[in-house]
Amino acid sequence: MDKKETQFTSTELQTLAELIFPNWQKLPSLEELDKRYPKRELPFGAIVNRVAPSPTGMMHIGGLYVALVNRRLAKQTQGVFFLRIEDTDQERAVVGAYETIVNSLADYGLSPDEGPMHNSDGEIVEEGNYGPYVQTSRKEIYHACAFDMLKRGAIYPCFMTKEELDKQREEQQKLEVRTGVYKEWALGRYLSFQEIESKIKAGIPYVLRLRALGEIDKTISWEDEIRGTLTVPENIVDTVLIKSDGIPTYHFAHLVDDHFMRTTHIIRADEWISSVPLHLQLFSAMGWEPPFYTHVSAIQKMAETGKRKLSKRHDPEASVSYYWENGFPRQAVIEYLLNLANSEFEDWRRVNPTSDYTEFRISLGKMGQAGPLADLIKLESISRDILSRMPIEALYKVSYAWAFTYDKELAEEMAKDPLYSQRALDIERDSEKGAKRLSTLKDLRPQLAPFFDHFLPPANELPFPDNVKAEDRKAILELVKERFKDSDPPEQFFENLKLISAELGFAGAVKDFKKNPQMYKGHVGDVASIVRVAMFGSTRSPDLGQVLKVLGNQTVVNRCNRAISVN
Ligand code: GLU
Repeated sequence: MDKKETQFTSTELQTLAELIFPNWQKLPSLEELDKRYPKRELPFGAIVNRVAPSPTGMMHIGGLYVALVNRRLAKQTQGVFFLRIEDTDQERAVVGAYETIVNSLADYGLSPDEGPMHNSDGEIVEEGNYGPYVQTSRKEIYHACAFDMLKRGAIYPCFMTKEELDKQREEQQKLEVRTGVYKEWALGRYLSFQEIESKIKAGIPYVLRLRALGEIDKTISWEDEIRGTLTVPENIVDTVLIKSDGIPTYHFAHLVDDHFMRTTHIIRADEWISSVPLHLQLFSAMGWEPPFYTHVSAIQKMAETGKRKLSKRHDPEASVSYYWENGFPRQAVIEYLLNLANSEFEDWRRVNPTSDYTEFRISLGKMGQAGPLADLIKLESISRDILSRMPIEALYKVSYAWAFTYDKELAEEMAKDPLYSQRALDIERDSEKGAKRLSTLKDLRPQLAPFFDHFLPPANELPFPDNVKAEDRKAILELVKERFKDSDPPEQFFENLKLISAELGFAGAVKDFKKNPQMYKGHVGDVASIVRVAMFGSTRSPDLGQVLKVLGNQTVVNRCNRAISVN
């Protein structure tokens, strides 16, 4: 093609811009926007960053991961972390997804400083002076910037239809040249003023494209804090910035929003690396200082076919909701993600077992270029540690909150006497063995249920061992009933049991029984088993003395009676 691109006079550009934005007089000027969204006054080195999810469905664990990294960096530098909802792709918008984003961040203690968040009544409201924070409410701001770019000829209307674009792509493929709208393939660049004017007046749909000034043989570099200096070819593609319905594309919205929201650092998923040349070009087209761009590698999963990104479609653990549903306390998920971000976190935690995780300083430079590997076993061990370390009141709170949704029956029992539930949960928590019992909140049911009569098996189904006769069983339980006092220290219980054993013809020590088995009906362990089954409905339990102490006098008597009634 030897055609020349159309050169417009400034009057022509102004006329076209006014034609495209007939309400141009109502649009704010860039100066006004600058005043409305002034540079933020923050301490030197403060980072202003954000998460900018699209409300297209569930919240991805990768989204939470990026939010955590951003939030920590903003907090560490006394900066600002905000939430922006990128809903310009209305076709992909899913009802309820906006709430899911806001709620997920809140649930994980990652609510933003600005943007949509809960107020004290739990309603979602927008806070902050740089809003609105939902892109579809920012149309006027995008149009103001597009109007400015049109007047300068930095963007232009393109009327190419889908069919034309498809045909052109085929031709490019045949010619084995790069596909897309650029240089001589960007037909809109060659339309005359009159052609454009009449098409617009005739109501022919069009998009607004960037007049890309890049050259394919030139490169552009930037410093990515995780990846170091990245150098790639300049952008030459006349990317769509405003769609035919007047809504901006992600690229344009990102430019306008991150400029006027005064973002200093874009820390986002690595899928956007290839957009940086375009984004830098956009900032330069506006004469604005670009933010720093850093790209976080996606969390990987070891699958049969090797490492791959966690997939929304195939991996339930890709969804944030998976973790709570499966009983992982939120704090465990946060610490797990911190571990994925900076492996030093684990050592730090070991040295500082009781510090709040926010005291750990996260660093972009220490994040790996290779995506971290999801490791649910690791998460489980973090979860176990956290559950065993938690003050008992907090453990009760998180347990009840979980059971309230996922084990209603248990939650109902727990709520009847929270202190009783706390004492039950606390048994042996300080020992290694005891701590292991609660890896996730899914283990609550087996731990707690035996403390509530409601869950005990029917008396005639109690799994008493066969090696103790019914009459002995009854005699044991009669004596337990008579002698147990919940005011005694738990160790006393075993002493009592030894005496009861001796009185009823059982050996008080296993080794005595082993020496002369014919002299005894059994040993203290057999006696303990009877008590265990009667009290706990099971042949396994935590330390019996402690169990009985928590059950208390009345319940011990009731459970003894209940078991005695069985023949
Ligand atoms: N809306 C984009 C996404 O959901 C945001 C990317 C960014 O952080 O700039 O991936």
